Amino acid sequence: MKPRLTDYLACPDCAGDLRLDPSQERDGEEILRGTLACVGCARRYPIEGGVPRLLPTGVDALAVEVAEGFGWEWNRFDELRPQYRKQFLDWISPISPGDFAGKIVVEGGCGKGRHTAIVASFGAQEVLSVDLGSAVEVAYRNTRHLPQVHIIQGDITHLPLKRCADLAFSIGVLHHMPDPRVGFRALAGKVRPGGRVAVWVYGHEGNEWIVDFVNPVRKRVTSRMPRGLLFHLSWPLALLVAGSAKGVYRPLSRGPGRALQQRLPSADFLSYIADFPVREIHTIVFDQLVTPVAFYLRQEEVAAWFAEPRFTEVAIMWHNRNSWRGHATVNG
Ligand SMILES: [Zn+2]
Repeated sequence: MKPRLTDYLACPDCAGDLRLDPSQERDGEEILRGTLACVGCARRYPIEGGVPRLLPTGVDALAVEVAEGFGWEWNRFDELRPQYRKQFLDWISPISPGDFAGKIVVEGGCGKGRHTAIVASFGAQEVLSVDLGSAVEVAYRNTRHLPQVHIIQGDITHLPLKRCADLAFSIGVLHHMPDPRVGFRALAGKVRPGGRVAVWVYGHEGNEWIVDFVNPVRKRVTSRMPRGLLFHLSWPLALLVAGSAKGVYRPLSRGPGRALQQRLPSADFLSYIADFPVREIHTIVFDQLVTPVAFYLRQEEVAAWFAEPRFTEVAIMWHNRNSWRGHATVNG
């Protein structure tokens, strides 16, 4: 943790300022171990492994279980790939690289730090990236060399931050929260007036076969399975998905079979991932099966999140015919 991060932090319990305890273990400027104390409620929060641990009192047990599933995933699939840049820009559109330059950016749910690293490369002034689970260890390893990045362990519903963001975003995370709308409101609440909020979530529309056939198996079986076992069992499934994407969906999408391809389930998405290595497709399959919580949101549900007077310039957009991008300016 870099000492200047303290300027942006707030107690997740009482929103009070946090002060760094003078007793610290450092590596140069980086604080590897130490303590942050709240000037309001006097709670003390540890800094361990370079990451401030700013969890609220009474954090939701289900949210922690979800975060631990993904933490397990990112500790095993910890690499950052060049393909992530295009994927990120597709998810966050209409925001573009220039929109990050010189900005204070907050990421709600950073996983292994894949988006955090990209945003840093776009010239953000500071990137404050929060995750609830052990993914923060991976995100920290992946971004420690980036001077503007700060990895924080915290809960999106009680973000341990002041209202400091020029831009707050969350990609692929809110639909895994016990109440996605609560997460969205909390994230938007950290955007300063005139700043922007952007999210990407699973759609119900276009994912009906997942909702009907995969969801029951995920809820009753795979999310309860030992993760090591699921890791191995999801490998042949990943080969099947990769084979379909690379051998059927992509060739059809490029030829006269496009009309047929468009009638197949998840056509745009499977064509989109056809260029990914099989290991990345394994991540995607594992990701779908590991979590006890996944909401597939209808357009009107996402639109309802943005139907507040504080939001203007609202845009809700369909992506890959299976997900929703939402974007707005935050006022007042
Ligand atoms: Zn406090």
